[in-house]
Amino acid sequence: MTTIKLYNTLTRQTDNFEPINKGLVKIYTCGPTVYDYLHIGNWYTYIRKDILIRLLQSQDFKIQWIINITDVGHLTDDQDDGEDKLQKKATATRQTAWQIADFYTQNFLELWQTLNLTQPTKFVKATDHISDQIELITQIESKGYSYVINDGVYFDTSLFQDYAKFSQLDLDEQQTSQRINHNPDKKNLADFALWKFSPKDKKRDMEWPSPWGIGFPGWHIECSAMSMKYLGPTFDIHTGGIDHIPVHHTNEIAQSMAVTNQPLANYWIHSNHVTVNGQKISKSLGNGLRLEDIIKQGFTYQDIRLHVLESHYRSQSKFSLDNLTNSHNRFLSWQEKIVLLYQNNQLNSTLPTVNFNQPKEEIINYLADDLNTPMVLKTIDQLFNQINYTNFKPSELKDFVVFLDQILGFQLSSIDDISHKNKDLIIQRSDYKKQSNWAEADKIRQHLLSQKIGLKDEPDQSYWYYL
Ligand SMILES: [Zn+2]
Repeated sequence: MTTIKLYNTLTRQTDNFEPINKGLVKIYTCGPTVYDYLHIGNWYTYIRKDILIRLLQSQDFKIQWIINITDVGHLTDDQDDGEDKLQKKATATRQTAWQIADFYTQNFLELWQTLNLTQPTKFVKATDHISDQIELITQIESKGYSYVINDGVYFDTSLFQDYAKFSQLDLDEQQTSQRINHNPDKKNLADFALWKFSPKDKKRDMEWPSPWGIGFPGWHIECSAMSMKYLGPTFDIHTGGIDHIPVHHTNEIAQSMAVTNQPLANYWIHSNHVTVNGQKISKSLGNGLRLEDIIKQGFTYQDIRLHVLESHYRSQSKFSLDNLTNSHNRFLSWQEKIVLLYQNNQLNSTLPTVNFNQPKEEIINYLADDLNTPMVLKTIDQLFNQINYTNFKPSELKDFVVFLDQILGFQLSSIDDISHKNKDLIIQRSDYKKQSNWAEADKIRQHLLSQKIGLKDEPDQSYWYYL
């Protein structure tokens, strides 16, 4: 078994991964707030998590993977001010918050399939776990960490000594960076809502009774309540984006540890930001490309997956359609070698035979080294470049393709053969060429090109590939 090393935000160093229970990894991922379509930057995070899961599975770990769906409580400001994102969208589109949640959850789950992401053990919704959240707030209250003001129940961060430890921000610095329009009744600027009250004059679409009054849970409490419910008070890995570090994950740790007095997770893995055409993705710039838009432009999910893996998860990734075209071409160059499996390939004993075992080992080692996906792709390029028409054993190439599918999720095994009719045409073309009937031979080439099939003429035969 290979030692897996992961950069751990908790220790600010690359740590050897050791799960709490031998052979089992418990992992929690912060999922989307379902008030809008996800943009390409959001999908980067999930593709990267998928690779982590696939690596762990390759090392024979059993996985318990929980991903939450935030369908209530996330306010327009990540602090506790502003409107509920779902309620705001509902009002703007004359729907209910429940309809908004259903629609965007469905869209998220469909695209999860489209991208061939590993199915987690469970997707969990905040609205399905209201009583768990109320129970956790009750426990926080009984430990003396909460207080009630006019608009909700808050966590008193000054009572949790290590509050600023995780983000490594000076607390004053963290507080002054927060917005000025906070509730002035809060005891400390960093205090956050555990439960918010519904407005007195208005009924919300989503609201529940609680020991403190009718309202809804704060954004952070759902992740503590649901992760601990399914994975226990301390689990192995917690993942999210780096923007979660200073507020959301800091608050998750505070409210969980206030009750359990033990770490929430041992490894915290964070993906860096993604820029589109050199700019940070933001609503106001309107550069948050949707997955569907990219696929509509003729790219496949494999192109997108490959493109995401071309940058390291801790580096700031640059997305652009031009770069995606390069990834698309890279994927085609791999395909060109894989479809040789469908073609007559006698092993030429005078050439050295390609060795697939060493690259397999290298790929695992690169992934185990804090998910070094750029080097993984380079290794695959080098291997495919070595493959000539007659220097590999088809059974070994087939095994390698299955291995790549398991570890990177490309579904390369499902690349189809061409039809018998087209195969016959290729033979017919060779005959025309032998007869020096170039006009007829070229007609066949053009016909195949129109079906996105290219031909490479070698002395012994013509090999086809997809364009
Ligand atoms: Zn979360």
